[in-house]
Amino acid sequence: MNVDLKPAAGMVIEPPEIRSVGVIGAGQMGNGIAHVCALAGLPVTIVDIKEDALSKAMATMARNMDRQVKRSLVSSDDRDEALMRVKTSTDYAVLNNADLVIEAATEKEDVKRQIYKVLTPNLKPSCLLASNTSSISITRLGAATDRPEKFIGMHFMNPVPVMKLVEIIRGIATDEPTFQAVKALAEKLGKVSAVSEDFPAFIVNRILVPMINEAVYALYEGVGSVSAIDTSMKLGANHPMGPLELADFIGLDTCLSIMQVLYEGLSDSKYRPCPLLVKYVEAGWYGRKTGRGFYDYSQTPPRPTR
Ligand code: NAD
Repeated sequence: MNVDLKPAAGMVIEPPEIRSVGVIGAGQMGNGIAHVCALAGLPVTIVDIKEDALSKAMATMARNMDRQVKRSLVSSDDRDEALMRVKTSTDYAVLNNADLVIEAATEKEDVKRQIYKVLTPNLKPSCLLASNTSSISITRLGAATDRPEKFIGMHFMNPVPVMKLVEIIRGIATDEPTFQAVKALAEKLGKVSAVSEDFPAFIVNRILVPMINEAVYALYEGVGSVSAIDTSMKLGANHPMGPLELADFIGLDTCLSIMQVLYEGLSDSKYRPCPLLVKYVEAGWYGRKTGRGFYDYSQTPPRPTR
C-alpha cells in the first residue's frame, strides 16, 4: 500500500481554479473581501449569524462601489453586475458549491473553531478554506478543520478595496496547490501578496499593533492627550492616520485580541496589552464600529475622548 500522499519529486500539480467564493462574517472585512471578489467577476456568498450584519454589508458595499464609480475607478455597469454577483445567507449550507471560503469572522479562536466545525461538513471536499485572521496560528486553526492541507491564511488589509496588500500565510500542513491558488486569486483581485511565516500576528500586525498599544500606554501614562499623540505621529512621523485614530478604525476589540495573541504566543512582557485598551474593550467602546473609542463618532468631526 502506498501511504505517501505527497506528489513525487518534480511532479507539478496544477493549482485548483477558484470560480466562486464564500465569505464568513459580514463585518468591515467581510464586506470588503466580498466587494473585491465580486468586482473581479467572482460570484460571492456572504454568511453571517446576524441578518442585520448582512443587510448592512450589502449597503456598505453599494456605497463604497458608488464612491469608486464617482472617482471613475469602476464603471456603473461593472458596479451593477458586481452587486448582482453577491448573495447573502445565515445558512452555511449555501456554500456547498464554493471553490474557496474565506472566513472573516470575529477575531476569537473559539468563534473560528466553532465556525469550521459547523461549516466544513457543508463544503465540497475540494473546497479551499482561508482565514483572514490578523494574528491566530494558521497551523492551529487548520488542525481544527477536516482539511489542514487546504487551509491557509489570507490576510487582507482594511479597507480592502483600497489597500493593496494581502499577506499569505501557510500553515505547516498547507499544500503547494492551495498556496498557488490563493496567490493567483490575490493577483486576480489586483492585490500584491507578501508571504509571512506562521508566527503570531504575521508581519504587518507584529509591527503595527504593538505601536498602537504603545500609543495607548502613552495616553494611559499621561504622556499626551489623544489629539497630541495622533498629531505627533501624523506630522512627526508622516503617518497618514494617528495610532489612536487607526486603533478605532481597526476596532479596539481586534487590537486587543492581537496583543493577547502576541503576548501569549511569544511569552514576552513587551507585548502586554495596555490596561486602558482592556478597559475600553470591557466598556464596549470598540471604536468606529460602535460609535465610540478613543474618539466619539456621534459628532462631526469626531471628538477625542481624553
Ligand atoms: P467585525 O467585528 O467588523 O465583523 C465580524 C463579523 O463576524 C460580524 O458581522 C459577526 O456577526 C460575524 N460573526 C461572528 N460569529 C460568527 C459566526 N459564528 N458565523 C458567521 N459570522 C459570525 O470584525 P472585522 O474587523 O471584519 O474582522 C474580521 C476578521 O478580519 C478578524 O479575524 C480580524 O482579525 C480580521 N482583520 C481585521 C482587520 C481590521 O482592520 N479590522 C484587518 C485585517 C483582518
